[in-house]
Formats: sequence, C-alpha cells, structure tokens
Amino acid sequence: MKNPRRARVDKSVCIDLGGTNMRIALVGAGGEILRRARFVTHADRGWRDIVERMARGVKELVATEGTESCTGVGVGVPGALLHKEGVVIDSPNLPGWHKVPLRRFLRDRLHCPVVVENDADAAALGEGCYGAARGIRNYLGITLGTGVGGGLVLDGKLWRGPEATAGEVGHFPVETAGFPCGCGSHGCLETVASATGIVRMALEAGRDTEIRRLSGDSVANIDAEVVSRAARQGDRVAQGIFHRMAVTLAMVLAGIVNLLQLEALIIGGGVAASWDCFGDTLRQEMQKRLFSGPPRDVRILQAELGDDAGILGMARRVFEETGVPIG
Ligand SMILES: [Zn+2]
Repeated sequence: MKNPRRARVDKSVCIDLGGTNMRIALVGAGGEILRRARFVTHADRGWRDIVERMARGVKELVATEGTESCTGVGVGVPGALLHKEGVVIDSPNLPGWHKVPLRRFLRDRLHCPVVVENDADAAALGEGCYGAARGIRNYLGITLGTGVGGGLVLDGKLWRGPEATAGEVGHFPVETAGFPCGCGSHGCLETVASATGIVRMALEAGRDTEIRRLSGDSVANIDAEVVSRAARQGDRVAQGIFHRMAVTLAMVLAGIVNLLQLEALIIGGGVAASWDCFGDTLRQEMQKRLFSGPPRDVRILQAELGDDAGILGMARRVFEETGVPIG
C-alpha cells in the first residue's frame, strides 16, 4: 500500500560564493550533484545585487519542482561571519560586504531554512562527509590555491571560533620579516605556500631561468603549473621553490598536529595538482618534526572532491540542520 504522506524531501540547494564566480548546485542526501549552474559574481555591484541574483539562481535551478522540493539552502562565503545568525561580518574578496544579513535576506525570498558557513570550513566538511576524510574525526582541510585556506574539524565537529575564522592556516606566521600578506600582516604561510607565493618566488629567481623559458619569457604566463613543469624537467630553481614551499608547509602542519593531535591533513586546491613536486618533501619534513610520543602517525591525504568540496559541505550542513539522514 502506498504511503499517503508526502515523500520525504532530501535535496538541498548549495552555493559556493567566490569573488569571481558563484556556483549553485542541487544536491541529494547521498552527495550526488543533480543539477548545477554557474554565474559571474560581479563583486563590484554590491551585496544586494549579488544576493538577489543568488536567490533567482536558486529558484531557476529548482524551477521544475519549486523551492518546496528542497529541504534548505546552504551558502559558503569567503569571509568572517556570525554563523548562527548567518551574518557576513567582512569578506576580503567581496567589497562592501560588512555585516550583511545573508541568511535573513535569502530566507525572506526563498521561504526555506538557510545555513551559512565560511567557504574553507564548508570544503573541510565536504571532504569529511563525502571525500578523503570520511570516518576521520580530527583533521585539518587545507586548500592551496591563490591563497591558503583551512577548515578545522575536531571530534567530528567544525571548530569555527566566534567569527568563523578559526582554522586560518594560511595566516600562520612563518617568517620574521616576510613578504606582505593580503591580511595586512607579513610573512604568513600564504605568502610562500600558495600559487601566488610560488609565482612570486619564480619572479624573484630572475630572468635567466627555465621557468622564464617555459613561459615564453612572459611574466603574465608564469603560474604554479609552469613552475611545476620546470621542476619535473629537473630545473633546480623550480625544484628549490617547491622545496622551500614544502618545508615551510611541513613546519606549520607539524606544529598544528603536535598541538591538536590531528589524525589527518587533507590537502586540496589548484597547487595540490603539483603534488609530485612537493608531496614527498612535505611528508619527510613533517615526520622529522612530529612529537615523538606515540601515536605519531598522521595521514597526509589529497582532497578528493575538487571544486565541489564546498558545495557538498554545505549540503551536509543543510541536511544536518533539517534532520535529513546523510549517506
Ligand atoms: Zn596573512
């Protein structure tokens, strides 16, 4: 006999808001992406315009079924926020976003539960639920991209801090008088272990390098991928850049593991594609610095979900908040 009650709603709409693009996806409770869309953020148009278009994007994505077909909406935002209230305090990539009531604004337009998290936290949660950190209760998710992002999960729960800025491993100080960082400080990990840092070190190496030749002697063509190509061809300068990056990253990560006794580090982002250029050094240099008492092993794993980690992490949060079983 058919159950007369309405079928359980087990889909969410999740948004990864970036300074350049916003990506929206309809996600099932098993982590399957059912439909997706991508829009230019147009960060210069201000938050109201962005959030109005975000709400329209959600409606268009579920147009055939209506918003009542999804249990809730999740948004990953690149910035500091009051997570319970869903208020974005500040975002370095989104000019003019100060105390933006994102959750209330979307709830008024979409009439469903809305969950807001920091984007790096969302990516760490995504890997924990559907990716490389499944079954691991204490880990740090690290994104090596234009900057270095981090999301910390302790005892199976996200450790956000009061304004969701905990886990900002990219702003761990690594040099006493280092290069200026986007955060306003100097010598942060991000200035060495990001794509931006790798390119800067390549430029500092001068004009007469294999990296310059591979880039057609055009500064604009130098990116982390070109540096990794040079390293694979045996270029000592490029290998030296990845060595410096790996040793610096190892020092920070070993310190964090020693502090928190993490079980795993999940490393993703565009620079992780050059894993063959720095992964071995990272492991060796970490192993030298891990606290000697047992258990000293920490798993260093590559992220599995790529660009979808944040969207899938938000799906987990929406399902958690609305009581939908995950899996
Ligand atoms: Zn910084």
